[in-house]
Amino acid sequence: MLKKSKKREYHTGTISCKNVDFAAKEKSIYFAKDNFWTKKFFTTASSNFLNEFQPNEDATVIKLLKKKGYICLGKTNLDEFACGGSGLLSNKGAVANPYNPQHITGGSSSGSAIAVAQNLVPFALGSDTGGSVRCPAAYCGIVGFKPSYGLISRYGLIPFASSLDTIGILASRVETAKKIFLVLNQKDPRDLLTIVRKKRTKVWRTTKKIAVIQGLEKHLEKNLKELYHQTLNILKKEGYGIEKVELAKELRENLQLTYLIISCSELLSHLSSLQGITYGTKENNSIFEKRNTFLGQEVKKRLITGSYFLENLEYLEKARKFRAWTNQWVKKIFAKYRFLLFPSMNSPAPKINEVSSAFAGSQIIHWSDNLLLLANFAGIPSLSLPIGMVKELPVSMSINAAYGNDQELLEIAGLLERKIKFR
Ligand code: GLN
Repeated sequence: MLKKSKKREYHTGTISCKNVDFAAKEKSIYFAKDNFWTKKFFTTASSNFLNEFQPNEDATVIKLLKKKGYICLGKTNLDEFACGGSGLLSNKGAVANPYNPQHITGGSSSGSAIAVAQNLVPFALGSDTGGSVRCPAAYCGIVGFKPSYGLISRYGLIPFASSLDTIGILASRVETAKKIFLVLNQKDPRDLLTIVRKKRTKVWRTTKKIAVIQGLEKHLEKNLKELYHQTLNILKKEGYGIEKVELAKELRENLQLTYLIISCSELLSHLSSLQGITYGTKENNSIFEKRNTFLGQEVKKRLITGSYFLENLEYLEKARKFRAWTNQWVKKIFAKYRFLLFPSMNSPAPKINEVSSAFAGSQIIHWSDNLLLLANFAGIPSLSLPIGMVKELPVSMSINAAYGNDQELLEIAGLLERKIKFR
């Protein structure tokens, strides 16, 4: 693990943060992924298209943290416009895993994960549309928390797919994630999708039953399987009953495709504001040329995919049905169980040269490595907690709870963290 240095000018994965005295206000400093509006720093979404975009306002989350005395030190690298799962798709270049530079960090909140894993800050902000907070957190051995959809204002977050986008927290400890969540957990009149206070927390459940997914284990690395069982055994000792539940083949095998259709279609509609007139590069070319020159390959690919699905709406309809079906499954699970658990990713971080662009849609990933999507589809809270090391790289457990049971989820994650003592 890399050590914290008192004064650094630059470190892999973080940008816009020169001459920062990290020791000065250690407790109240953080980084934000570079898709949050900040008055003080450019907001580039790691894209050449937005190289000089300087919002004249901070995102609501940045404002809320400021009010409580937290200082945003700078912005962190991401896969361009949050489209990616590798950390290799930023216009600033690829970033590498802090445990082994031959491996990926995961993405898209790659720089935020590195900054926390290297102990530069106790937490960093990220966004999670299909796992982008929890995947890099898992690969970098830190906590990644995606709260219930609609609890945290997204005003000032550059959207990717707004029916899935959720602001998340990457932190060194569960306690820190909880503290920051409580600061951000507020209705915001500027994001009309944030829900009113009364509906925010659900009643705590009394059942001590946990669901795990049947048929998953055979797809896990041997050592990860062992750590997975050890973690479940801790919970058994705490009085939880563990039961296997079935996720229908048709559902699990269509998760990625459903995500791809919905997210690319929404991406296209959001990025239509990127014409370089009010927003984005002011180069004097046609919109087509500008997009062609200044957007990266992956984003272009997704925009083309999105336009195909928006032209052929029957696919979008079908994807929505799949999503609704998945959400019914999730609802049924939480009618009976308190938590749903599975390994966040089915292996430690892969090698950079083995990944073309993780989860780009062009690359079919096994369903067992895709389950983080369930929480984005259903809007439920989900947290990645490190449970140990496999081949000298960290691996994590994904803990999921019913919609609105965020605090309950943080409680059990805190309990496991204390027993596992990963850091
Ligand atoms: N890896 C996923 C993708 O490439 C998730 C992205 C995200 O959550 N922003 O779309």
